[in-house]
Amino acid sequence: MFVDAHNHLDFFESKEKLDKALGIIRNEEILTLGCSMDCKSYEFTKKLAVKNKNIIPCFGIHPSKAHENYKKLDKFHEYIKESRIIGEIGLDYVWVKEKEKYPYMKKVFIYFLEQARRYNKITNIHTKGAEGEIYNYIKKYKLKTPIIHWYSGDKDTLRKLLEYGCYFTISVDIEYSKLSKEIVQFLPLDKILTETDGPTSLQWVNGRYGYPSVIKDIVKEIAKIKKVKEGEVEKSILNNFKSLI
Ligand SMILES: [Zn+2]
Repeated sequence: MFVDAHNHLDFFESKEKLDKALGIIRNEEILTLGCSMDCKSYEFTKKLAVKNKNIIPCFGIHPSKAHENYKKLDKFHEYIKESRIIGEIGLDYVWVKEKEKYPYMKKVFIYFLEQARRYNKITNIHTKGAEGEIYNYIKKYKLKTPIIHWYSGDKDTLRKLLEYGCYFTISVDIEYSKLSKEIVQFLPLDKILTETDGPTSLQWVNGRYGYPSVIKDIVKEIAKIKKVKEGEVEKSILNNFKSLI
């Protein structure tokens, strides 16, 4: 059994593509954390999970959606309580270019940190360009074993996050990115998870549409870097994930 610890099922833009992805998740046994961008995306993923036992819906407001949601925080409480893992949440100073959105981003992120602390929930965190700041927040809110999504920051912060006890999802750029390969080399196998980040991330990397089966290629690549058998990597990732949920 494989693990996709950060996917966006609402990014499959047609019924045909979504059905194909859901079929892969079911038939190839890929335990999938369906991250949300906002309430609509969470409701959508929650419905899919009713019919597919391999999908775990996950509530959060993506940093790029914070400015549209900062006034609705009091509506999120039930979603947070029922969600096994909170995500996608975080900060982004790279892809979110409009600086006027940053105060909203921080407000929404801090709200989720408070709630994650209150209910002792695991979080799935986007850290783009804000790695050091997020490490400080993780410590401040004493978060329970956060999952760091597609880390691309500096090595010193990576080491601190690892020492804190974070898990890291290795993504679809592993075949191509020198930094991602170095991160895999550095991390112990018992802190590594895998992710596809929706179909569009692989497309951004190499032009191919990212169906969930790409997870197997990521496992293969990790095995190559770590010089261990693919089966061992697969088993370790599943154990890591199960220890979280
Ligand atoms: Zn994502």
